[in-house]
Order: sequence, then structure tokens, then C-alpha cells
Amino acid sequence: MAIHTIVAATAALALCLVATSATTPAAGAHPLPSPPASSPMATSPSRRPQASARSSTPPSGTSASTSLPSASHRRSLSRRPQRDIQRAVLCARNASLAIRVRAGGHSYEGLSYTTENHVPFVDIDVACTVSASTRPRRRSGPSPARRWASTLAFPGGTCSTLGLGGFVSGGGFGLLSRKHGLAADNVLDETLVDAGGRALTRATMDADVFWAIRGGGGGSWGVVYSWKLRLVHVPATITVFDIERRGPADLIAGLIHKWQYVGPHLPDEFYISTRIYFKPKPTNGGNLTMSFTGQVLVPKHLALSVLNKAYPELRLAESELAEVSWVESTAKFAGLYSIGVGEYAKRKSDYVQAPISKPDMVKIARYMTAAPTEGSIQLNPYGAAMARIGSGEVPFPHRAGFLYSVQYAVDWKAAENGRAGEFMGNPRGAYVNYVDLDLGTNNWTDATGQKSKIDPRNVFNNAQSIPPSH
Ligand SMILES: Cc1cc2nc3c(=O)[nH]c(=O)nc-3n(C[C@H](O)[C@H](O)[C@H](O)COP(=O)(O)OP(=O)(O)OC[C@H]3O[C@@H](n4cnc5c(N)ncnc54)[C@H](O)[C@@H]3O)c2cc1C
Repeated sequence: MAIHTIVAATAALALCLVATSATTPAAGAHPLPSPPASSPMATSPSRRPQASARSSTPPSGTSASTSLPSASHRRSLSRRPQRDIQRAVLCARNASLAIRVRAGGHSYEGLSYTTENHVPFVDIDVACTVSASTRPRRRSGPSPARRWASTLAFPGGTCSTLGLGGFVSGGGFGLLSRKHGLAADNVLDETLVDAGGRALTRATMDADVFWAIRGGGGGSWGVVYSWKLRLVHVPATITVFDIERRGPADLIAGLIHKWQYVGPHLPDEFYISTRIYFKPKPTNGGNLTMSFTGQVLVPKHLALSVLNKAYPELRLAESELAEVSWVESTAKFAGLYSIGVGEYAKRKSDYVQAPISKPDMVKIARYMTAAPTEGSIQLNPYGAAMARIGSGEVPFPHRAGFLYSVQYAVDWKAAENGRAGEFMGNPRGAYVNYVDLDLGTNNWTDATGQKSKIDPRNVFNNAQSIPPSH
């Protein structure tokens, strides 16, 4: 079978120095900035990431088909940006400044552009220029570039404005993950600039470190400068839908309950996530709205017949499905929206291993009709390839036995900041990419050994990075 790869580089670099007046270092030698305290961080309302602000970052997975580099782009893949990053790391260390690496800027807690306790930092913005080149590897006969461009994909995020830097470093789950696994499962090589300014590849870095940087979370290991990614085949035409169902709590509870037995168990080609929206009581009329996002890698007639059999309660109509190319579908699901000043959001995640019972689902739905603010609960189906890939392949343990992930979302305006505490709380477990400071510091012992190998002095740290083992 032909294997196609894409080489993507987060070429550097806007280097901007952000120093707070209280902590600007005096001239001379300084100790490295302290890593965050080991006590749980106080919660503060997160600034909602500005998805549109970084939309020039090529969405992961689409470069092969939509933005194959022009000659000028290819020239930017020189060694200079890599050297700039190496120098920036050494320069920041010499000046005793903390380092923040920023790609798409989508960190839920703003960890790519803030520090704790007003520590001055250098912002290494790797999204300034991004290049990609695609190399087919085949056993026989050339295939025209245009043909493979439309049927090759990379398993990126649902929101395709995410930066590769954080997304891949934390695993990366998306619409193709039930068929092809996480983004990190499809990484063949990376170039990592470490705390000593060395540029390491898979061949020159410790095998344990190469394991850790594919899922152990961004901001802990160094600056990833480039990736070599495996592209996967997608059909020229796929089926998509984005539909809503609205009704009283008990009806919606029945739909969610049934989804648990459908979403995670459909064939690999079917991805159907669902989201339940809630609003405070006076504005919801006692009803809830549920949306379904579907990306199905088969033609419409087949998708409809499988779904109507497995999930008749959805009453899916042919007119609600559309056949598009995979590239068109990424644009459809990109979730581009503009964010106003003074808007806040908090996200939490969870995992479900056994279906929630119908009576409990009814209780949850009824609670949502009396919610204190606006928000949603999103359920993302696992199963299929996600369950077949071993939990130790990359540092992403939520594989076999995990039915779906949950993402709780609340949004509020600046005027409601005094109530922020009401909108957060009771954290349990989380997906590292849904970073949540309410969980406290990260003491994930499986990865602290790898951290000690690549960054024993904890130069790359943030409020929830992996600490060294000592
Ligand atoms: C609107 C939205 C939609 C989302 N959808 C999905 C989804 O579908 N699937 C999913 O899995 N997740 C999703 N997420 C979560 C997302 O994966 C994480 O927020 C991820 O960290 C974003 O990466 P980024 O590069 O855009 O963010 P950034 O804020 O730039 O970086 C996040 C972290 O990674 C570090 N980092 C960034 N670049 C590098 C680099 N080159 N080298 C080393 N470290 C680096 C940063 O320092 C920071 O700690 C979504 C988030 C948002 C806001």
C-alpha cells in the first residue's frame, strides 16, 4: 500500500518580549524563572481563544489537498527559522525569561500566552509562517498530484483553525479518529528544539522522548519545529450533516441515552457527535436543543440506511444529508466565529466507560432546563480504531473501554464574572488538550521520567506541564 506523508513546519518567528513592571529582571545574571507552585492554581475566568485570529494557520490535515506549498513557501522551509528558534530558546534562558510557545493560541487556559505570578516571558510564536510539502511514497507507477490531493487527509481537529503545535502535542482527536486514530498516532517524525537549543529528530532523540511528545501535552518538552505526518486515504465524496432536534427534557434524554449505544458502536466510517445546549429557564420554554454533527466516509444512501436502522429515533431525512469532498467538510465544520471583547468561557472534559442509565439521563436533562447560564454538553464517540490502538502506543490512555468523551462548556459575559465560581467545579479527569487548571498541577508519573531525560531543569513549564521526576 502506498504511504503518503506530509512535512509541516511551524517556521518561526515573532519574538516578543513581555515583561511585567513588577518583575522585570535587573541587569546581570538571573536564575531561571520558577516553575509554577505545586499547589492547585486558583481559578480565573479563561479568555476564550480567538479562533478566527489564527485562521491563517493551515488547518491540520488539509495541507496536502488545499495548500500544497508554492515555490516561495518551500523556500521558507530553510534552516534559518529553525536556527532562530534555537537561538530564541538559548537567549531566553540566558536572560532568565520564561518561555511560552504559541501555535494556534487555542489553549483553553491561555497557557501559550500567559505566565503565572507575573513571571516575564518570551513568546515564541510558531504560527507566523507555516509551510508544508507532500511526498508520495509508492511501490509502483506515479499518481497525478491532483488525484491524491483530493483523497488524502490528515486526522485533524473538528475545528480546523487549531494550531498543529498544541493539537498534535496533546494527542489530537477529530472527525477521522474513529477510522484512523489520533493525530499523534499518525506522526512519523518531529523536529524538537530542546532546552539546550539542540534540534533533535526521531533518529537523534531518546525513543521515550519521541513517545512523550506525541500526546504528553504541549509546552512541556521543547519547541516542536516540524512534523512528518502520515496522510490517510479518504473517499472523493463523503456524507456530512449538522442537524438539530428540539423538545422537552424527557424526549431529549431519550435521544442522548440511545446515542450512547449508537455513536461509539457504528462502523469505523461513521462519526456522529452530539451536543446538548442549555439556556437559563426563562428563555428556554422548558425545551432543550440537541445537535448532531456527522461525517460519514460512505455515500449518502448507505449512510442514511445504516443510520435509520441504528438510530431510528433521530428520524434522519435524506434532505438533511449532503455529499461533499473531505476538504469541503473541514471548512463546514471549522467552527469559525468571531469573539467579542468581554466574553468568557470555561471548558471541562470527562470520559464515560459505561452508558449512563435512562433515569439518570432524564435527571441530567431536567437539570439542564434550569441551568444557571448558557452552555452545552458535547459527546464525542470513541470506539472503532480508537479502541483498537493500544493505550501505550502514545501517551493517550483513553482507548479500549472508553465509550465517549464529554466536554462541558459554559459561556458568560464580563458582567457575570462575579459568578464565575458557579460555572466551574467538580473536576475529575481530563483530556490534556482540554487543559483545565481546576485540576491542579500535572503529576502524571508515566511521563515524568521522559521529562527528566529531555528537560531536567524544567525550562519548558506552565501551570499544568509535566514536571521532571526528581
Ligand atoms: C475552538 C476550539 C476547538 C477545539 N477542537 C478540538 C478538537 O476537535 N479536537 C481536539 O483534540 N482538541 C480540540 N481543541 C483543544 C485543542 O486541541 C487544544 O486547545 C490545543 O492545545 C490547541 O493547540 P494550539 O496550537 O491551537 O494552541 P496554543 O495555545 O498555541 O498551544 C497549546 C499548548 O501547546 C503548546 N505548544 C503550541 N505549539 C507548540 C510547539 N510547536 N511546540 C511545543 N509546544 C507547543 C503551547 O505552549 C501550549 O502549552 C479545541 C480548542 C478550541 C479552542
